[in-house]
Amino acid sequence: MPSTELPLIYDLTLEDLTAWARAHEEPAYRARQIWEGLYRHLWDKPEDFSPIPARLRQALAASFSFRPLEPVTTLVSTDGETHKTLFRLADGVQVETVRMRYMRRRTLCISTQAGCAMGCAFCATGQMGLQRNLSAGEIVAQVLYYARWLRQQGERVTNIVFMGMGEPFHNYDATMQAIDTLNHPRGMALGARRMTISTVGLVPQIRRFTRERRQVNLAISLHAADDELRSALIPVNRRWPLAVLMEAVREYTAATHRRVTFEWALIRDRNDTPAQAQRLVRLLRGMLAHVNLIPLNPTPGFAGQATSRRRARAFCEIVRRGGIPCTVRLRRGVDIQAGCGQLASRPPERLDFVLQSD
Ligand code: SAH
Ligand code: SF4
Repeated sequence: MPSTELPLIYDLTLEDLTAWARAHEEPAYRARQIWEGLYRHLWDKPEDFSPIPARLRQALAASFSFRPLEPVTTLVSTDGETHKTLFRLADGVQVETVRMRYMRRRTLCISTQAGCAMGCAFCATGQMGLQRNLSAGEIVAQVLYYARWLRQQGERVTNIVFMGMGEPFHNYDATMQAIDTLNHPRGMALGARRMTISTVGLVPQIRRFTRERRQVNLAISLHAADDELRSALIPVNRRWPLAVLMEAVREYTAATHRRVTFEWALIRDRNDTPAQAQRLVRLLRGMLAHVNLIPLNPTPGFAGQATSRRRARAFCEIVRRGGIPCTVRLRRGVDIQAGCGQLASRPPERLDFVLQSD
């Protein structure tokens, strides 16, 4: 079991690590060597750090935990392209991470919280409530796990989406620290533009994100183009209704000139109507936007049904005719509950898909 007493090494910034090295009367380049070991060579135990003196390796082992999470089970979708791993964190809390293979992309869908406080009606994570925030190191460790796994097949992580469990803007600082760690040129050096944060629409954090001029892509979970419907599906819409949300997003696009993706889970007879599509066009008119449609994925606590392919195409067509780029996304990993909104920290229900119990 991982130690719960020692601080997690992945929670440190390079500056923290430098201060630690200094406190052990070592020069700053030792910290850089450790950083490179962690994030470039993907070493996961103090013994691996052979370039640093044995004394310092022992100090590393005595000071830090290197085991933030333990894989419990991995499920593989029938087409083999989507993997979902259930991890146990040091305190026993569980989160899920998804890896998707699509053409040359190796995309990870990372969790930022165990559960979620936002309570969106159609989302399995929302249905379980918030257990706790993940630390920056616990977020990074999900990436490291799959980065090591991919490396064994001669592959690399190409993209990261913060669309797993939780609302990343409700755990802003840890999520941003994790992004900085993953982005760091001396480490994984994963380009900010290869990462996407998806938010349910927390306006103060969208403004902060705009001010910070981050290069990470932004996606907004919209799902409805009027307040009555959106509030019924997404409770935080009552706090930041559409007009306020859209103003914040317009400020973002004006300041950054970056295109924003709007996510829309199509629920039969609720938000998949031509009238909703037309309202959406009016809402996004003149904006640097892209609409991502996805037929609703089933979750235990929501009775809504997925839209049909035909209606999804018709919706998309209206949005496109309104001058807004629109795509209907593939439903990936639905058979192993690895699709959008299906992550929850319960044991796997489809045991027939268990490939390995790492
Ligand atoms: N909390 C963030 C990111 C995690 S959810 C957010 O809400 O944006 C990732 C995406 O899955 C969001 O766009 C969310 O709206 C969508 N989603 C949630 N439940 C879904 C479901 N049952 N079917 C399809 N998409 C869903
Ligand atoms: Fe939380 Fe996003 Fe699910 Fe809403 S859709 S409950 S914000 S994880």
